[in-house]
Amino acid sequence: MGGTHAVITPVNVHEETVDFSLYWVRDLYNDVVDEAVVEGTRLGVRVDAARFYTSVKPVLDLDKVCQYPNDTAYVSKSGVADPCCQWLDAKIPCDVYSDKDGFERFWNDDVFRRLRKGRNFPSCQVCVLSRVFDELSFHFTPKLKGQLISANRLSEMEGESDFPDAELIRLCVKNRLDLPALQRTLLRFDVSTDELHTIEEKGLGALPSLDRACWDAFRMSDPPSAPVDLAFAGVFAGIGWGPPIYEAQNHVSARWIAAGNVASLCSAV
Ligand code: SF4
Repeated sequence: MGGTHAVITPVNVHEETVDFSLYWVRDLYNDVVDEAVVEGTRLGVRVDAARFYTSVKPVLDLDKVCQYPNDTAYVSKSGVADPCCQWLDAKIPCDVYSDKDGFERFWNDDVFRRLRKGRNFPSCQVCVLSRVFDELSFHFTPKLKGQLISANRLSEMEGESDFPDAELIRLCVKNRLDLPALQRTLLRFDVSTDELHTIEEKGLGALPSLDRACWDAFRMSDPPSAPVDLAFAGVFAGIGWGPPIYEAQNHVSARWIAAGNVASLCSAV
């Protein structure tokens, strides 16, 4: 079609579509994205998409990050409106279309005044601005989050299962290790991905034993004997690789070897 830049944005799920969230197919999604970006680069199209297992949660000052109550007004003809698209608390009266003073009243409503002093409403506490792609509720619509809060389930879900790999991801990013590629490789050879957590104890020193476990499994498998074309930024099995890099304008994709300076290649997946 002649485009040069494609952005794949994640779709948030409602109650009826929650089973279709990308969150439940993180590894498959990462593989598809890697393939898409390699293909885009081959065609000269820059493809931007978030990947799982790569988000380091920042320390945020929500009052600074969120400027909605200062510079954005979501007005509505329905008689009520929200101060932002993440809102799940009570709506604000809004009669801007029927009264010339309506906007002043709306913009200076008590909710706006309180928000400008601090983003500490219940909506703000579960707002997507303070969540990263690897967190479950990042993928939920505000409406679904509101339903889960009413049922006392959101904090339970976030507390029990959310972002268990946060420290592992932080260490991999710090050491320029591509965790999606490690995850893919262990899954390919039926090695438990729990083994990746040895990186938390041993750092890069954990890579040789991960490599050995995958190599042993590879030798037990029936690898193809024919030559294969391999895109290093794409989907293959190997240990010790850094994040993929792409230069769509030059039709080049590549991958650095990570900070350990050793990387193996087991197979094209
Ligand atoms: S929910 Fe709160 S923090 Fe999030 S966008 Fe709205 S006002 Fe800002």
